[in-house]
Amino acid sequence: MPILKKREIESLEQLSGEELEQFLDTLPAGQATISALLDHIEDELFESECNHSLQYAMKFMMDNRLDFGKLTHWLTANGGYCDCKIMEQIAPIWRAKFGDD
Ligand SMILES: [Zn+2]
Repeated sequence: MPILKKREIESLEQLSGEELEQFLDTLPAGQATISALLDHIEDELFESECNHSLQYAMKFMMDNRLDFGKLTHWLTANGGYCDCKIMEQIAPIWRAKFGDD
């Protein structure tokens, strides 16, 4: 019986110590970079509506020369299908863990 895989981001709040280190090692970008990505998307969505694409996430990734193939895969695997979904599904858990600045 296959076990339904929980979204990785959902287990983040339980992690600490070595497990948290391992989680961070598997991310497609550094912790500070992902925090900055979330801040960027939030700022952009403050000014304009989400058009249900990853346009602001993409812009940030391009400007910062990030691996957007891997990052986009990670974001969508965790429910972040577009900019507003990233803010809804990923940002609250991320910020609860790492703070929001
Ligand atoms: Zn959206």
